[in-house]
Amino acid sequence: MNTTAVNASIITIGDELLIGQTIDTNSAFIAQELNKIGIWVHRRLAVGDLYDDIWKALEEEEKQSDLILITGGLGPTADDITKPLLCDYFGGKLVVNEQVLAHVRYLFEKVYNRTGPILERNLKQAEVPDTCEVLHNARGTAPGMWFNKPRTNAPLNPPKGEGSARGATAKGAMTVFISLPGVPHEMKGLMRDQVIPKLLQEFTLPAIVHRTAFTAGQGESMIAELLHEYEAALPGHIKLAYLPNYGMVKLRLTARGINQEELEREMAPYFNQLLVLVKEYLVADEDAGLEIVVGKILKAKGQTMGTAESCTGGYIAHLLTSVPGSSAYYKGTVVSYANEIKTRVLGVRPGTLASAGAVSEETVIEMVKGAIETLQVDFALATSGIMGPDGGSPEKPVGTVWIAAGNKEKTATLKLNLRFDRQRNIDLTAVNALNFLRKFILANS
Ligand code: AMP
Ligand code: MG
Repeated sequence: MNTTAVNASIITIGDELLIGQTIDTNSAFIAQELNKIGIWVHRRLAVGDLYDDIWKALEEEEKQSDLILITGGLGPTADDITKPLLCDYFGGKLVVNEQVLAHVRYLFEKVYNRTGPILERNLKQAEVPDTCEVLHNARGTAPGMWFNKPRTNAPLNPPKGEGSARGATAKGAMTVFISLPGVPHEMKGLMRDQVIPKLLQEFTLPAIVHRTAFTAGQGESMIAELLHEYEAALPGHIKLAYLPNYGMVKLRLTARGINQEELEREMAPYFNQLLVLVKEYLVADEDAGLEIVVGKILKAKGQTMGTAESCTGGYIAHLLTSVPGSSAYYKGTVVSYANEIKTRVLGVRPGTLASAGAVSEETVIEMVKGAIETLQVDFALATSGIMGPDGGSPEKPVGTVWIAAGNKEKTATLKLNLRFDRQRNIDLTAVNALNFLRKFILANS
């Protein structure tokens, strides 16, 4: 099989992206989806709602990409100019598409339950350039559009180094442009239902395999030291990526080649070797968050947990309950932010609070005991800390955090000295607490 590496560009359109009012999450999603099927996004560009700027972006990307994905500017308002512009760019005219028109009517009458006539500007959503193929948008009125344009660019030189595994070689005769609405959930639906299946049909793509090991409790540099020789010995088409985030490091192995099954077979011993090397810090042999991992362990044991959260204010509860099916093992939290609640609901002794303080080992131990009792759970996790920017003292500076994990028999504690801003301190406390609980459960059951 002749695998054709496809280089893609993403152009996002909207003034709101340039002023930072909306964060461009569309590019990240599209890049992830393309990457999964072996398409390499080599450029991303954001432009405002300006005709000339969008045009120039299209021209520029057309020079160097096989595939250009565009999002935004397809709405019914005057600032949305992508559609007429694409019409000009590909030299066609706008025509009403009957299927889209029927869909717009259906949405307004049956789904949005609007009474009265549909506005002209909404009906105009059914107009598309006669040069495109319409991609049905089940979730909204603006359809996606697929354009093929005879290729004008010369093939790229194969990139050097890492890039050669991407192998930019043979090129098709057409450059493909795909325009999608900016509304994230509509864009995502179109990518999954329409764009990816059609890309798989139209292009012969290289196979790609990812395996991820999830570690916590050790920094990226230290892990890199540990994996120095391993990494150097990897074959050219298997790459290791370090993805650090909030006290965790994901280690992702990526193999590119021709045959999916062959790649998976080839990858297996390298992945197993990786798991052994990072054994001490390993949380999961998949791309799963700690809240998922803790849940799996509890579910397998048929045991339950609860939380008593002061400085994390329910954030750990939020993480745990974001996992579908968490009701099987997670019972609830006491957001014991005020001392009064620590005492009244969790039974922390006023004497402990007075002598040791709310942020202390003694207090989190009593919080865990109180949570096990009050919530009637097998395991409990407690947090108390000073998240900043105020509230620190010389003995307990901002970033001082006490965590406790326990069951009916035993409680263990951990002190953190964080030094970040409030949000990051909260995130790091949650990650460290969940990891601490994970280890406690494994060691004590
Ligand atoms: P538009 O298609 O330009 O009318 O955009 C519709 C909505 O989608 C607006 O609320 C935008 O803020 C949002 N949006 C547009 N582009 C993006 C993007 N790249 N990432 C996330 N949201 C976006
Ligand atoms: Mg817009």
